[in-house]
Amino acid sequence: MLTTNPFDDDKLREECGVFGILGATDAAALVALGLHALQHRGQESAGIVAFDGEHFAVHRALGQVGDNFSSEAVMRPLKGNAAIGHVRYATTGDTALRNVQPLFADFEFGGFGLAHNGNLTNAMTLRRQLVRRGCLFQSTTDTEVIVHLMATARGGSVIDRMVEALRQVEGAYSLVAMAKDQIIGVRDPRGVRPLVLGMLGDAPVLASETCALDIIGADFVRDIEPGEMVVLTAAGVQSLRPFQPEKSRFCIFEYIYFARPDSLVEGSSVYKVRKAIGAHLAQESHVDADVIIPVPDSGVPAAIGYAEESGIPFELGIIRNHYVGRTFIQPTDKIRHLGVKLKHNANRHYIQGKRVILVDDSIVRGTTSVKIVEMMRAAGAKEVHMRISSPPTRHSCFYGIDTPEKEKLLAHKLSVEEMNRYIGSDSLAFISNDGLYKALGHAGRDASGPQYCDACFTGDYPIPLTDYEGTPGGEVAFLAERRA
Ligand code: AMP
Repeated sequence: MLTTNPFDDDKLREECGVFGILGATDAAALVALGLHALQHRGQESAGIVAFDGEHFAVHRALGQVGDNFSSEAVMRPLKGNAAIGHVRYATTGDTALRNVQPLFADFEFGGFGLAHNGNLTNAMTLRRQLVRRGCLFQSTTDTEVIVHLMATARGGSVIDRMVEALRQVEGAYSLVAMAKDQIIGVRDPRGVRPLVLGMLGDAPVLASETCALDIIGADFVRDIEPGEMVVLTAAGVQSLRPFQPEKSRFCIFEYIYFARPDSLVEGSSVYKVRKAIGAHLAQESHVDADVIIPVPDSGVPAAIGYAEESGIPFELGIIRNHYVGRTFIQPTDKIRHLGVKLKHNANRHYIQGKRVILVDDSIVRGTTSVKIVEMMRAAGAKEVHMRISSPPTRHSCFYGIDTPEKEKLLAHKLSVEEMNRYIGSDSLAFISNDGLYKALGHAGRDASGPQYCDACFTGDYPIPLTDYEGTPGGEVAFLAERRA
């Protein structure tokens, strides 16, 4: 559906993955593989921009990478040794082709492709100003603001224009951009979203996560640092520091849920961190039980950690049907309920007559927990204890993880004890904020120590939320506008 009002859309609802490679034969095919490994970061659309030394070619499609980038007809025109790509995860509303990234524009300096993971928090404010100045927007994504800021910038070169544009935006961004003969990677000064550098032989690679390097056999080199811009050319990789340094605030939810467990982010194995969270959770909220059961798949590593720490046996007491999309992306409550039933089934033999500890990574609306607890009881569980490997999700994310508005978050509405009654468990416990930081190897959550963006748990938003500040109803008005 195309909207007629550029401000009346769900443009900020994205979770995304980005990838780019320069100096490799069949770059677009490598990008398609990289995007396939990043599919968990965005399942609704995918796009690739390739450059063959003379021409740019662009293909964007709704749907998954494998369904859209496997045919000869699509891949043949995506020629050349340089390419970038993007996967996007929009939950409801506008999935129109015009919003599929990478965005592409023709500048004085030539073609320019842009892929963005994150969320700008002053995009609407900037967009209003740009529209007043005569800019004609082609999409309803926040990312397009960067393209127009570059077009109206004073500087001449791609880098100058990009820096000038990015100095005006607020929010979270890990970008992979491509102009003639160069690929540019940037992370916002807080480094909220991940971005890594790898090498495939002599060809530098940029990717949201290391699992996308693994799939093409590239070596992991390092994380792009918060506030760093890297320029990949035939001459090598150049590192620039165009922004004021800020304290790093990497998204803690990447560790809890979003990143793939086989990825290494910010120097730590996601799998190892999830297990450590499970172990701390076991220490904080012990309960006597016969079996630990993960809610698959995201609860599995934390449940293993919980089982190792507590000595209680681990069993796959719930089997997941992998041919159903994540319940979260179903658009209506009715379908979401149906989705949960389609997705999970009890492995009865391991549940009947047992005191069960269920481990999941988060409770958002509570839909999954209600269904799973009910399923355990129906399968004959004697007791059902729910353990969650994140603190209660009480606040919305504005930096690129899709969470519903605050009013729909169960933990915003109810206390932990009320949530326990609502989901029907015998007991419910969440990891504490300190426990989470300890699992990440720190002393606790302390403003003087290393910090993450944990706004979804604490309400401590490290980057201004300019688009909604000062408006009546604040956050709610902002989200309503963003999602109308
Ligand atoms: P809910 O049923 O609304 O409480 O959602 C909780 C379930 O959704 C958990 O099992 C999580 O693994 C999963 N989940 C949490 N956050 C997200 C997200 N941002 N996108 C997709 N799924 C999520």
